[in-house]
Formats: sequence, C-alpha cells, structure tokens
Amino acid sequence: MSESLAGILDRLEQFHGPQQPHWPTEPYEFLIWWHCGYPASDAACARGWDALGRMVGIEPAQILDAGAAKLAGALKAGGMVPELRAQRLIEIASRVQREFAGDLRNGLTGTLPNVRKALQKFPSIAGPGADRILLFGGIAPVPAVPSNCPHVLVRIRRGPERENYGATYQEAQKAIEAETPAAFGARTRAYLLLKFHGQELCKRTNPKCELCPVKECCAYFNK
Ligand code: SF4
Repeated sequence: MSESLAGILDRLEQFHGPQQPHWPTEPYEFLIWWHCGYPASDAACARGWDALGRMVGIEPAQILDAGAAKLAGALKAGGMVPELRAQRLIEIASRVQREFAGDLRNGLTGTLPNVRKALQKFPSIAGPGADRILLFGGIAPVPAVPSNCPHVLVRIRRGPERENYGATYQEAQKAIEAETPAAFGARTRAYLLLKFHGQELCKRTNPKCELCPVKECCAYFNK
C-alpha cells in the first residue's frame, strides 16, 4: 500500500523543515505583491514589494496618486516589464476603490463561486491564483496547489505528470482534497511543503531524486 499523503508531508517537513508563506496573505496585498516581480518568483516579488513600499506605498490611494511613471520606477527592482506591471497595479487599485470601496477583504462576500469569480477578474489571476488567495487569506480552506509545481504530488502518486498543465493541476488538487482535512492549517502546510519541495528537489526538469526523502514511495522514481 502506498504511503499516505500525511506520511509524505511529514517526511517532507522533517527534511525541509516547517515552511511559512513568504508573501503577504491579505487578498489585496497579495494582488499587489504578485505584480511586483517579473518573471514572478518569491525573490523578485519581494524586491519589487520592498521598493514599492519605500517609494510609493501599497494602499490603493497611494498607488493611484503616484501615477504610472513613479510606479514603474519602483517596480524596476522586481525585474522586467515594470511599465506593464505599473498599469496592472493601477487597474487593481482602481477596481478595489471603485467596486470594493477600498476594502477588498470585506467586499469579498457571497458564495464561494462568486468570490472566486470576483478574484479572477483581477489581472493575472486564474484558478490557481484565486485558490491561493482563498486559502492563505483565510477565506475558504480550498485544496490549493502551488501553481509552479503541481507535478510534485502527481509524480509521487502516479508517475510522470501529464503534458496538459490543467490536467496535472486538477489531479494534484483532487489528491489534496481527498487526503487532507478541509482546514486552513492542514492545507496551507501541504501547499507550502509541496511548493518548497518542487523548488528545491522535484524541479520540473532534472529532479534531484537521489536526494529526495520520499523517493521510496514515489511512483516517478520507482517506475
Ligand atoms: S523522487 Fe524525484 S520525482 Fe519523486 S518526489 Fe522526489 S524528486 Fe520528485
């Protein structure tokens, strides 16, 4: 019988250590942070986020008052296409002011599908991004999967991931939904451990399987 997901997560935690989110978990702040770096990574977004906070501020009114050129100047710290990312910040801040009276969290009301739909209207937020906001923002304990490495759990359970990203994401999401309690703590822990493992060892190309703490129970490794 294969190892339970709880057992796999325990092994990953023993190996990598407990994980914490390295991004703001408030829904509005996450939307801003997400556009602070490109290509998006925790490190690039953190650099742009720090510069934005120092040079402009992150509140909707501060972003709208600053204007595109000043925003782009701050966002350069996060990498490429700062002008485009500045426009996205203006779009986010405008929508939060106009449609949510400046308070996104309190405006995210209604059924879960409606809240998800509202989040997906923001630029660059598709299903995985909406799931991440819902889970880490404490809105709903949905089975979110790290968007940059949905293959990790699929490899462990089934073997090589599918070519279709959406199918791989769904397969990983079903496994988390079936095998973790629908609770914020359990699902944020699963997300963070799978994300870190995907970044450190179970990379999309050339995974470092020999070093992996779960290789004995990994279908990909034992195929
Ligand atoms: S054994 Fe290799 S494929 Fe399996 S989880 Fe570890 S790194 Fe990923």
